[in-house]
Amino acid sequence: MTVDTVFDKIIRREIPAQIVYEDNLCLAFKDINPQAPVHILVIPKKLIPQLSDAESQDHALLGHLLLTAKRVAAQVGLENGYRIVINNGSDGGQTVYHLHLHILGGRQMKWPPG
Ligand code: 5GP
Repeated sequence: MTVDTVFDKIIRREIPAQIVYEDNLCLAFKDINPQAPVHILVIPKKLIPQLSDAESQDHALLGHLLLTAKRVAAQVGLENGYRIVINNGSDGGQTVYHLHLHILGGRQMKWPPG
């Protein structure tokens, strides 16, 4: 069973977000609680709760999300690099159960993550 999240409300324009990119498959918008000078989320319009719920039929969509992240990172000027993060499930630190890619940039990232 899939559950509506705050990201579905952003897709439907029921709550505001600073949208930086949209096409028929996905949406990119600024994170409300940025962890870096640039922090943008890329989400599919299709509700896939988490990466581990994706199926083989989603392979083109998953590729599209990565290529969109690359495109958005270039669009916002992250020419020195950036980090793409997908938190999956509770141990992964996921809090919103609508698959999303984090684009983090504008500062030097550290490793390992917390
Ligand atoms: P997760 O922890 O699930 O990987 O990431 C969820 C992200 O969604 C968090 O970075 C959080 O700040 C962001 N977020 C949660 N609610 C909202 C919201 O209503 N608007 C926006 N723009 N971001 C949100």
